[in-house]
Amino acid sequence: MTQALRSYSEDRWQEGSGEPRPLLDAATGDEVALLPSAGPDPAAMLAYARTHGGPALRALTFTQRASVLKVLAKHLSGHLDEFAALSARTGATRRDTAVDVDGGIGTLAVYASKGARELPDSTVLADGPVEPLSRGGLFAGRHVLTARLGTAVQINAYNFPVWGMLEKFAPAFLAGMPSVVKPAGPTAYLTELVVRRIIESGLLPEGALSLLCAGPAGLLEALTEQDTLAFTGSAATALKLRTHPAVAGRAVPFNAEADSLNCSILGPDVAPGDPEFTLFVDQVAEEMTVKAGQKCTAIRRILVPEDLEVAVTDALVARLAEVVVGHPAAEGVTMGPLVGLAQRDEVRAAVARLASEAVPVFGDPDVVEVRGADLAHGAFMSPLLLRADSAARAPHEVEAFGPVSTLLTYRTVAEAGEIAARGGGSLAGSIVTADQGIAGGLVTALAPWHGRLLVLNRNNAAESTGHGVAMPQLVHGGPGRAGGGEELGGLRAVRHYLRRTAVQGHPDFLATLA
Ligand code: NAP
Repeated sequence: MTQALRSYSEDRWQEGSGEPRPLLDAATGDEVALLPSAGPDPAAMLAYARTHGGPALRALTFTQRASVLKVLAKHLSGHLDEFAALSARTGATRRDTAVDVDGGIGTLAVYASKGARELPDSTVLADGPVEPLSRGGLFAGRHVLTARLGTAVQINAYNFPVWGMLEKFAPAFLAGMPSVVKPAGPTAYLTELVVRRIIESGLLPEGALSLLCAGPAGLLEALTEQDTLAFTGSAATALKLRTHPAVAGRAVPFNAEADSLNCSILGPDVAPGDPEFTLFVDQVAEEMTVKAGQKCTAIRRILVPEDLEVAVTDALVARLAEVVVGHPAAEGVTMGPLVGLAQRDEVRAAVARLASEAVPVFGDPDVVEVRGADLAHGAFMSPLLLRADSAARAPHEVEAFGPVSTLLTYRTVAEAGEIAARGGGSLAGSIVTADQGIAGGLVTALAPWHGRLLVLNRNNAAESTGHGVAMPQLVHGGPGRAGGGEELGGLRAVRHYLRRTAVQGHPDFLATLA
């Protein structure tokens, strides 16, 4: 019999209540765990984190917190095999697990190392120099950053059950704030396992990490003025949270990472046979199939010069034809299933909306051959390549959160920039060109609409981290549709959890605050 997931609150594992929901293996449909509909009282969870976790963390300096993260990352690395085995049940191949689990632990390690090198052995962070405010030099001002006194509440999406948690937990912990994590239902069992191993390590102060494995009822209402709220998920949920009376009314700092219709642009300087042509096609195919396209940064819009449409389509179709869909553990499988049947239904519905303005070029949303699994029980889907006219609206408005991408053509570089902007704000964009002038022009045109831009060509491809990988050192987030938030970006993310205060006084005193 499968176990009901438990929540970690007030420094102990607690049973949930209410009718539990079965969480199913993405490939076989077998039950993996049960998710209670209600968890322990969120208000008590947050209160305990505030009164126990907060003071314990604030008693440590930035340097001390960084050294805890370093040991924690090492500890979690020792459990990789166990995490990978459970991750496979979410539909993840080993390559997908590398992005979520290894990537999450790597993010923790980067924050540990940046914290140790770039933050002071102190609990206060000076923000900028002492600013003279008087003629005689006796009076000045300085900004200081101190830990907020609340909890860092983190609501995550199902597609990154490990990375999504650790990329938010690490900067909050460094800043001295206790984290309260609410994973998304479908993959909550993997987050629970990782939290279990974190708690067992005994490395964290009491109350520094809590976990709510249940529905969110009561969580937002428990927020107070010193808390923060970070969210990853759909734009519709982001809107609900942003306008929730507790969030808006108490001015709780809110960060959202939501939908994104990311693009990749092939430069007009590229010809078939150039290294950039192959790089472009390989990257699009990779982004469509890693995690079965359930990646917020995946390429949804493929922009190519008009005269390269046929060549790119042929090359892409050939690459997609090589994809082997099936059980993540089966030999030779290169793309696993979507996380569940409900999510596959949502992707099919989104494809139907796209199909009103786009034609299929490769794949059928209802037909797929699978290896090592029973098609009737797993959430399998073929990669789907669509083609739309540049006047079409749907590719710029509909996010099919699966292995789906739409090819569009452009005539001039300026038009490519305009088409990219129709996405209304994206997390990541890439420009594949060997021409620095074209790259520079597109970076300038795309920057206001993007959180991160990759310029890819033969000179950097060997070491490029790729279009879709959010790097802990760089900002992850995007304007407009993408949620308007910013995560990661090195110590910028730590600062997000600190409170900035302007202190005025004698310059000698202000100098001691550094
Ligand atoms: P979702 O339905 O918006 O859910 C996201 C999280 O919000 C889940 O933990 C969900 O809990 C919770 N939630 C839902 N309603 C809530 C409410 N009223 N109050 C508090 N919490 C609430 O999104 P999803 O289906 O999990 O994720 C897929 C979406 O996430 C895609 O659209 C994708 O674009 C986006 N995404 C964005 C990024 C990014 O970094 N920008 C990354 C990954 C995914 P339950 O699961 O318990 O309902």
